[in-house]
Amino acid sequence: SAKSRGRSGLCFYNRQLNAAAVERLRLEAALRRALERGEIDVHFQPKVDREGRPLSFEALVRWHSPEFGAISPAVFIPIAEDTGQIEPITEFVLARACRLACAWPRELAVAVNLSPRLFHSGGLCRRVERALALSGLAPHRLELELTEGILMEKNMRAVEQLQALKALGVRLAVDDFGTGYSSLAYLRRFPLDILKVDKSFVGNCRPDASDAILVRAISSLGRELGLTVVAEGVETQAQWDFLRQAGCDEFQGYLFARPLPAEQTHAWLARFPDSVYRSSRRALA
Ligand code: C2E
Ligand code: MG
Ligand code: MG
Ligand code: MG
Repeated sequence: SAKSRGRSGLCFYNRQLNAAAVERLRLEAALRRALERGEIDVHFQPKVDREGRPLSFEALVRWHSPEFGAISPAVFIPIAEDTGQIEPITEFVLARACRLACAWPRELAVAVNLSPRLFHSGGLCRRVERALALSGLAPHRLELELTEGILMEKNMRAVEQLQALKALGVRLAVDDFGTGYSSLAYLRRFPLDILKVDKSFVGNCRPDASDAILVRAISSLGRELGLTVVAEGVETQAQWDFLRQAGCDEFQGYLFARPLPAEQTHAWLARFPDSVYRSSRRALA
């Protein structure tokens, strides 16, 4: 009957809700132990110049849980933010990134993503300073990727912390630029160095497409402000050609490399001997 169907429907709905809550609790518990169990790792994805030569790598955190398998950072970073795990995870990523960067040739840089939550808890600047000191990495070789949200905050402590970070000599990047808030005033207020155009603008590279118009506008804005403009999510040669024409300075995406385990970065870099850097206009196969 209708009545019993309704009741079982409701029951099913409750069970679903319950299952989601239980799943989330199990994930939280597993994440709390992930670092000490060695389940957290860092992969590195290169950024290249207009001729395809490596300039830096971005550190991207990975979690492989024996219980849940590989879990996307898009899923577990928000959980880490809610449970206080974001500080130790970031410390781990920073340490790995700085240590590995010291072993790369040609003063390649390394970029680390910073959650906005880190600006609320304090001690961020000290953590970064310590990672630099322990590894011996020169500060100008470390880039910190921030999201637009942190730059929009009225929170004066965020402003002060960004200035303190900048004073260490590191470079500051705005990640996923164009997806957050619409005010551009913060571009003048903060000591920024790099704009990373979000990959959602890169998809349609026909010159008359609205994405293309936005990429051109963002890159001329960046250039006028003296910022390095990076395009992320570059997957095809046609996209790369368009983005270069649009004036972007640096490029990142599957066209060049997927995020690589740390031990594969050296083999990937070996494709670019010093001679490739000296001959400025020679094309790369
Ligand atoms: P993001 O910083 O914007 O990183 C770029 C994401 O795009 C990465 O996903 C990368 O693997 C992916 N990607 C790179 N090239 C391409 C491409 O050509 N095509 C496509 N479709 N995707 C591409 P991932 O590694 O899953 O990371 C997702 C997000 O998680 C990152 O976005 C970042 O916001 C966050 N995240 C990653 N590692 C950390 C970390 O250590 N700390 C914090 N706070 N957040 C992190
Ligand atoms: Mg990033
Ligand atoms: Mg990004
Ligand atoms: Mg992104």
